[in-house]
Amino acid sequence: MAGIKAGKHDEYLVGYQVEADATDLSETEVYLGSDTAQNSFAWLVPLSEGRALVGMAPRRRANGQMEGFIERLKSDGKIDSIASRPQTWGIPIRPLSPSYGDRVLVAGDAAGLVKPTTGGGIYYAFLSGRIAAESAHNAISSGKCTANDLRGYERNWKAVFGRELRVGSYARMLFETLTDDQIERLMIEFLSDGVLDDYIGEDVAFDWHGRVIMTTLRHTNIRRVLGTLGPSAAPFVARLMHAR
Ligand SMILES: Cc1cc2nc3c(=O)[nH]c(=O)nc-3n(C[C@H](O)[C@H](O)[C@H](O)COP(=O)(O)OP(=O)(O)OC[C@H]3O[C@@H](n4cnc5c(N)ncnc54)[C@H](O)[C@@H]3O)c2cc1C
Repeated sequence: MAGIKAGKHDEYLVGYQVEADATDLSETEVYLGSDTAQNSFAWLVPLSEGRALVGMAPRRRANGQMEGFIERLKSDGKIDSIASRPQTWGIPIRPLSPSYGDRVLVAGDAAGLVKPTTGGGIYYAFLSGRIAAESAHNAISSGKCTANDLRGYERNWKAVFGRELRVGSYARMLFETLTDDQIERLMIEFLSDGVLDDYIGEDVAFDWHGRVIMTTLRHTNIRRVLGTLGPSAAPFVARLMHAR
């Protein structure tokens, strides 16, 4: 309707979430493993008044994994019962291109501006929303609102977090080729004192995953594990290593 050519997102996660009664929960919990959430992770997040959010964001469909996760939480005594209707919606993880048109600027989820690693899109929605507002202000002030005039919007968001999206996207591609065992080996190495404490140190930022991914890849111990991942992972490792 906006005249933007690439009108559909072909790369997306599907978010599932319900509220549950959970009286004894004090901390957020994250669950990994292909038997829990294929190519993703699941979460249990305490809210106020004995409630919690239970969710996951797998690729395409959860194929019964959400029900399995809820049953597991119940049998582990983490939650008592489900307290809301399940919500489900898509999270696009590939940027729309172009993200502008005649009198149109697209930001946030609508433009696929979401962390490909986790599916978190609130931060980039804010960033791209602000850049879109500045571009709209300039365009309206000067009376120049054609697609060509609005080209700078995409240039500007790419300058701020374009590389983050690329690195995140290549990291996800690699992650999706790995078995649970391979991910486990990488995580054990990453969490060791030699890598996380001594090498990465304070350089971990909640909203900026690219820097920590690229720094980690340069560590000899991580490179050694990456070298053992086999031929199906090798092209994705190479692509990630050379992400610009
Ligand atoms: C289950 C789940 C959990 C998530 N958890 C996290 C998380 O923990 N952290 C994180 O960063 N991200 C998370 N996300 C992703 C996050 O929700 C989105 O990336 C973020 O909300 C995108 O913001 P947005 O403003 O671009 O879009 P939205 O939040 O979708 O806002 C778009 C708004 O536009 C309105 N709208 C739509 N059409 C029209 C219309 N025609 N006219 C007027 N209004 C309209 C909609 O009603 C909506 O209010 C999660 C997503 C899911 C599915």
